[in-house]
Amino acid sequence: MPGINEQPPFKVLIVGGSYAGLAATLNLVDLCQGRKCRFNVDEADKAPEHKVPVQITIVDERDGYFHIIGQPLAIGSNSDASTFWQKFEDIPALQSPDINHIQGQVESVDCKSRTARIVQSAGDEGHEIVEQKYDYMVACSGLRREWPSAPKSLTREAYLAETAESVQTIENAAAGVVVVGGGAVGIEIAAEIKMLQPQLKVTLVHSRQQLLSSEDLPVEFKDKTLEMLRESNVEVVMGARLQETVPADDSTSAKLRLKLSDGRELFADHVINAVSRFTPTSSYLPKDACDPEGYVRITPGLQFSGDVPNKEFHYAAGDLACWSGIKRGGAAMHQAHFAAVNIHQRMLAHLYKTEPKFNELVEVAPMMALALGKTAVGYFPTMGLTVGDTIRNMFFNEDLGYGICWRWMRLGEPTAYKP
Ligand SMILES: Cc1cc2nc3c(=O)[nH]c(=O)nc-3n(C[C@H](O)[C@H](O)[C@H](O)COP(=O)(O)OP(=O)(O)OC[C@H]3O[C@@H](n4cnc5c(N)ncnc54)[C@H](O)[C@@H]3O)c2cc1C
Repeated sequence: MPGINEQPPFKVLIVGGSYAGLAATLNLVDLCQGRKCRFNVDEADKAPEHKVPVQITIVDERDGYFHIIGQPLAIGSNSDASTFWQKFEDIPALQSPDINHIQGQVESVDCKSRTARIVQSAGDEGHEIVEQKYDYMVACSGLRREWPSAPKSLTREAYLAETAESVQTIENAAAGVVVVGGGAVGIEIAAEIKMLQPQLKVTLVHSRQQLLSSEDLPVEFKDKTLEMLRESNVEVVMGARLQETVPADDSTSAKLRLKLSDGRELFADHVINAVSRFTPTSSYLPKDACDPEGYVRITPGLQFSGDVPNKEFHYAAGDLACWSGIKRGGAAMHQAHFAAVNIHQRMLAHLYKTEPKFNELVEVAPMMALALGKTAVGYFPTMGLTVGDTIRNMFFNEDLGYGICWRWMRLGEPTAYKP
């Protein structure tokens, strides 16, 4: 066996540089550099005995980390948008010789030869195809979401321009804004716009008789959400579908006339369609790795469990992984932490013939926290229905959880390798 200094670094490919991708990267770097990993809060655990040479490559279509949880606030606030998108090169924790970043899209992965084909963005010169070999891969590419659930842009500059346009449209909507879709995203967008522009008429239109109708959550939580949304002066229209949006005539100062399925009409200057549309981003993986909907089948240890070669070198974490519970940023980071620990265990076993000890996920019950402007509502099996400051301070604070995620991942602290 080569000495540790001659051992070539393990090459780890992380697809997606958001909550799961960054959590996997940073926890793995901690362990490989001989530290207890940052998400491990168990006092009894010790730092690893050995160091492991590693080279991690994060591939993301975006040029930075985007705090997507904050998107409902960012579409109406230039300053929050500017905070929420941080270029990878500006994140202190990622400035380590063990970590590099490629802006591009992973187009395909060959699990047998452990090679990824990446369409790398080459700025104004278009694209370049790169073939990247890896020892381990973690698929953290989440779900493909459309605006307004996610930004359209792939660079910070374009995103700030996109936001500026959205902010201006909202600010100029004197006759009001209508948000269509009473799922989590539509509810939060309506509440955040109302908080940012209290003088503006904000209406949420939902086709069903209950908000959050597609979520497996208690009725009390859904009813409380409706009550609180109305208390914050968002007008809510239930049980009606938006059928048509046409230019309004001269009898009103509004730009748009909205025709609803129950015959009602609304007038507004701006319509935001927040009916959620999302699909797993697993098209670069072999079909056999995924369930029929495209979520990656995993073991409780986060390893691929479908019919693909080299399963023990392939992992998935976050929204893309097929696991119980509502998709959440916290769950994505937790899963990525476990994937990092388990990959590290395999590396140690390979180098030092140690007996690996794997972390395993447990099943997760449905739970959710919703930001409603200056307040919040949550349902968690351990706490039940919770409203107000307790839940807002736990999950959101003033910045829809940006600071909480930033500090938890320690993105502001350098991770430089100290031999
Ligand atoms: C508007 C909104 C509000 C939300 N609010 C909350 C909340 O309050 N609390 C909560 O816990 N959760 C919330 N969620 C859910 C949470 O955002 C997700 O669970 C979380 O983003 C999942 O993280 P992830 O890292 O798995 O995937 P993502 O955050 O989706 O990141 C995936 C990354 O992969 C990149 N990517 C995709 N395909 C490729 C490819 N082929 N090649 C390279 N890169 C690729 C993307 O650019 C992206 O950066 C919210 C979601 C939305 C949309």
